[in-house]
Parts: sequence; structure tokens; C-alpha cells
Amino acid sequence: MAADLFSEIEYLKGVGKARGEKYRKLGINSPYDLIYHIPRAYLDFRAYVPICQSKLGDYNVLKLTILQKNRPQRVRGGLVICNAIATDGIDSIVIVVYNNIYGFQAMQEGQTYYMYGKVNGSLMRREISAPVFIKAEESVLIQPIYRLTQGLSVNMVRTNMRQALGIMEKFPFETLPQEILDGYKLPPLMWSLENIHFPESDSAAEEARRRLAFDELLKLQLGMTMMKLRRRKTTAFAMDSSVSIDDFSRNLPFELTEGQSSAVADIIRDLCRNTPMNRLLQGDVGSGKTAVAAAACCFAAKNGIQSALMAPTEILASQHYSTLSALLEPLGLNVCLLTGAATAKKKNDIRARLAAGEIDVIVGTHAIIQKDVEYKALGLVITDEQHRFGVAQRAALAEKGDSPHRLVMSATPIPRTLALMIYGDLDISVISQLPKGRQPVKTYAVTGKKRADAFGFVRKLIDEGRQAYVVCPMIEDSDSDLFAVKTYAEDAANGNLKGYSTALLHGRMRAAEKEKVMKKFRDGEIQALICTTVVEVGVDVPNAAVMVIENAERFGLSQLHQLRGRVGRGEFLSYCILITDNTNEDCMKRMKIMTHTTDGFKIAEEDLKMRGPGDFFGSAQHGLPPLKIADVACSMELSGMAQECAQRILANDPTLSKPQHRALKLDTMRLFDKDIIG
Ligand code: ADP
Ligand code: MG
Repeated sequence: MAADLFSEIEYLKGVGKARGEKYRKLGINSPYDLIYHIPRAYLDFRAYVPICQSKLGDYNVLKLTILQKNRPQRVRGGLVICNAIATDGIDSIVIVVYNNIYGFQAMQEGQTYYMYGKVNGSLMRREISAPVFIKAEESVLIQPIYRLTQGLSVNMVRTNMRQALGIMEKFPFETLPQEILDGYKLPPLMWSLENIHFPESDSAAEEARRRLAFDELLKLQLGMTMMKLRRRKTTAFAMDSSVSIDDFSRNLPFELTEGQSSAVADIIRDLCRNTPMNRLLQGDVGSGKTAVAAAACCFAAKNGIQSALMAPTEILASQHYSTLSALLEPLGLNVCLLTGAATAKKKNDIRARLAAGEIDVIVGTHAIIQKDVEYKALGLVITDEQHRFGVAQRAALAEKGDSPHRLVMSATPIPRTLALMIYGDLDISVISQLPKGRQPVKTYAVTGKKRADAFGFVRKLIDEGRQAYVVCPMIEDSDSDLFAVKTYAEDAANGNLKGYSTALLHGRMRAAEKEKVMKKFRDGEIQALICTTVVEVGVDVPNAAVMVIENAERFGLSQLHQLRGRVGRGEFLSYCILITDNTNEDCMKRMKIMTHTTDGFKIAEEDLKMRGPGDFFGSAQHGLPPLKIADVACSMELSGMAQECAQRILANDPTLSKPQHRALKLDTMRLFDKDIIG
């Protein structure tokens, strides 16, 4: 019965309570879930190396004949260690197996196997521990690698998988209509599920993965598009397109760049519609997103509509407040700042004025979305650096006012295709150029030996009138060797930066204190700011022209780019010095990318490639359902296809109600884990 597919995982032979628990730990509750436990990769046993060429401390595939099995030894705590001597015909190696008597029994003396495991030891005596193995005469030499948990072996998964697939194959089904399979040259679902787990060949595994990844991307696109269509059905306040913001432009201290102007035009167009705007404004650090936000607030205010601008940190909120008030107050608009740091009396006063409609633009942290904040006519909600907010926070903000227009500003330059996938229900404006006269930040990566030289350079720039940031990863000293700002600031004040005015800034300082330091830095009273990544987002001090980043290995590419974006914001040639003693390959690669490019989009793409989208956005903050198969970054082409396919399907069947789309609809809803349809 097909129902067996959705029964408890213990339904499968050999899965008792204990193993069932292990499966549940992996999120596998039924045979169906097991089938969708897709291999992370494959082990290709054909790519074996001789023992003498195996990499120590690393995983290797070897072809070994067992010479002699030794008696299992029981050591303390009931641990059983088995070992055997094996050879590749030239050298010998010890095979060590821990606590797996059955696994050990399966190896036979005189038999030849392909084995995959971690090789340790010295040139003289090597050992391979807990290898995965198959007999050399086995015909299929490609085996899946699964995400496993303690006590659940690949062989157990394979046996259970065989049975689960057997159940499914008795009741074959297909989620995609035939013409789509034909149109995109995709293999049938049943074949794909079989071949993703038990591939006939490399190319079969590849093709199966392509099909399953397509499914996933298609469902993602369908879900996103349906959410967008649903949003289009709600109504918002349509502003008047004849309202002019010419005075805003006249009051600006600079001329908007082309990208900024066209973003403003996109936004005003959206605001004049009676469906809520849902736009992502994307621009590299320093591209001038704040001025665009200010233009939008100005347009709204002139339409009698209140705007809220929400920033992820107090520092940033107060900085936005000063920018916006400078740009908007001369025009007679009322701008206010509301953060958690304000006194109760001040908060009450601001709340009363918001409710009375006396404030045109409110800037703040999440304090502005708390339940007790009421607005008279909130119609435009802007979130800055949105990837720092949780999905829930964003939703809470959107619920204020009835379907306000929404603008989301992001400084993480996400490749366009990816942005479309993640913000599938958003429209996008991109500011692709920086304001005129900006020079790329010169970036160097050096080891700690060059620290004194680096600071010599920093002092020289400060003497010329510039300011500096020094970034450390930690606040307090810890067991690690990482630099902590507190100690670092003291040391610098007595050493490398002796005689200069320095100050400390980190996330655990009181808000008022942070604000005081930032103000002094902005006013030029502080020459060097010793800080943590609190300065990462949005801080704008154009006179700061050099940044030193300690323990640069601790930061991801996008984070380094964000940090570096704090300099090079004015007319001065700026510098970034990355200090790291780490020689790990991954770290060297990041340093090389940082020193060779300042293009945020390129850096983001590299970062995605190195880390994958999950890490890239931080833990589950992007609101994207978890993808199991498709690697968003590497399947750009496939995702383009899925996007086109989703549009084609929805054009004929916008609610997926036709019988041929039934399976797809169920699957899509399952992916999003909620009712997004209708
Ligand atoms: P981001 O996009 O990183 O938020 P900001 O809005 O903080 O960038 O702007 C960075 C700096 O560039 C600010 O000092 C701002 O005054 C300046 N700026 C913005 N637009 C322009 C422009 N069109 N010409 C010159 N400078 C500009
Ligand atoms: Mg900004």
C-alpha cells in the first residue's frame, strides 16, 4: 500500500525503536522522508590511490586486500577496537574499526575491497580508521554519502532505502506533467529517486539530481510567485503622482547618481499604485541607499502619509536619523528618533505625536514596531539591512497600518538570480554604481609580523588628518588567541597609537555610551576607533580612510566587504589592511579575493560558492524554505528554467487547481509548510 510510504519509519525491516530515533534526529519520520534523504555527494571508489600516496589526516580511497584479522580488543568503557592488516600489493596498512563488530566481521581475510576512510599515522605505519568499504568485484563503484548520525551507518541506510524505494515503486507516481518533462528534458521521478540513491552510472546520478533539484526550485518559484500574486490582491493607499519632490533634490548636497534616480522613480511609481509596494533596494556599500529612502519618505509625507525607517542597530538608527533630519527638516518635515535607549517620558511623547500624526518620519530600531506604538497614517515602511532582521520582525512591521508600502534595503549584494529566488515576492531596484569620485579601497593582507609597519602607515594617515578603524573579533579576552577589543584598545593607546586619541566601541556597551563615542568619532574628536563588528553595518564617516582588521581569518567574505565599506566613503584614497597569521587554504583564498576586488557582487558570488546560501545569510534568517537538493548558488541555470516553468504553469492555472497540478500543489505546500495558496 502506498500508505506504507507515510507510515512510521519503524515500518521498515530492521528499524526498531533505537534506529527509529536516530532517523528522527535527521528529520526522517517515514519511508517517504527517507527517500528524500538525498545523498550529499558520492564516493567514487574507482578513484583509489596507492597507500604511499594517501594523504595523512585526510579521507582517501584505497584498494586493499585483508592479510590478517586480529582479535577484537575490549577496552575501558566497553569500547571494542578491532584491527586488521591489509596491503595494496606494495605497502601495508592497519585497518581500525571502533565498536562495530559486525562491520569488522564483514571483512574477510584474503578478500579485496575498496575502502574509504581517514588515514592517519606516519610514513612508516599508516592506519585507516572506520572505513566504508565494498568488495572489489562489485559492479557499481559509486556510492552515496549521506548525512548520518552516531550509530547510523551508510550500510543501514542503504538497506532501509532499498526497501523504501521498493514500496514506492509498487505505486509509481509523477509530480510533473508530461509536457514539462519533455520540454525540459527531465527524467521521470521514479527513475530519478532510484538513481539518486543507487546510480547506474555517474551520469545517471547527475541527471537524477538535476531532475530533483529542478522539482525543488520549481516548487520554490511556484510558492514565491503565488505569494506575490496574493499580495497583489490586497490594497494600499495610492499616492498622488503629481506631488513633486523638487525641493528635496534642490536641498540635497549632491546630485543623485543614475542608479539612485531610477530607484527613486521605481519607488514613486509603486507608491502611486493601490497595491502595496514590496521592493528590495539593493546597492553595494556606499552606493547611497539612504538618500533614496529619504526621497521616498519625502514623497510619502507630501501625500500626508507617515513613514517608518527601521535599522538593526541603535548606532545605525541614530545615524539614519541625523541624515534624514538634515535632508528633510529644511523642507518642513518632522523627523523623530525612537530607540530602546530613549527615556520613558520621551518614548511616551513620541508615541503621542505619532498617533496624532505630527511626525512624518520615524526612525528607530525594533522599538518602532512594538505593539504599543500607534500611527495615524503609516503608509511606508522601510527596513535597512534587512538580512539582519528575523522574518517575524519584518512581518510585525508590515502589519502596522493597513498593508503599508514596503521598501527593503540591503547592502549585501546578492546575485540577481539568487535575490529573485530569496525575495521571489519582491520587486528589485539595483543601484549598480557608486557616487562619482569614489576610489576603490586599496586592500592588503599581511601577517602579524607586519603589524608595526601597518600601524606606522595608520599613524601617517592620521597625521594627514584622516581617521582610522581597528577591528577585532572579540570583546573580552578568552582562551582563544583572538584579539579582544578591550585589551587591544589599552595596548594600542600605550603602544602603536600612543599620543593619538583612541576610543573603544563594542556591542556590549550601553546605547548612550555607544552613541557618545560615535558622535565624537563623527566629529573628528576621536582619531582611531578600536571596535568590534558593531561598525559593520551602515556606519558612515567619510573622513575615515583606513581600517585595520585583526584576525581577518575569523570573518567571512561578505562580512569583510561590509567592514571595508566603512572606509572609502569620501574623497580620500582609502586603505584596508587585513592581518592574519592563518595559512589555511580557505583563508588565503578569501584574503586573495579581498585584495583583488572591491566589487561587492563578485565578492558575494565567491562567498556563496565557498559557503553555500545557508551560511551566507546566517541561520534561517532569510525566510527561505530549506532546500535539500538544489544548491542555490550553483544552479543558476536550472533556477532560471524553473522560474520560466513556474510562470508558464501559473499562467494557465494560477491556483494550481487543475488535476494535473495536484501533486505539484501538495508538494509546494509541503515545502513552504503552510498555506500560501489562494
Ligand atoms: P549605503 O548605500 O551604504 O547605505 P549611504 O546612504 O550611507 O550608503 O551613503 C554613503 C555616502 O555617500 C554618504 O556619505 C552619502 O552622503 C554619500 N552619497 C550618497 N549619494 C551620493 C551622491 N549621489 N553623490 C555623492 N555622494 C553621495
Ligand atoms: Mg546604509
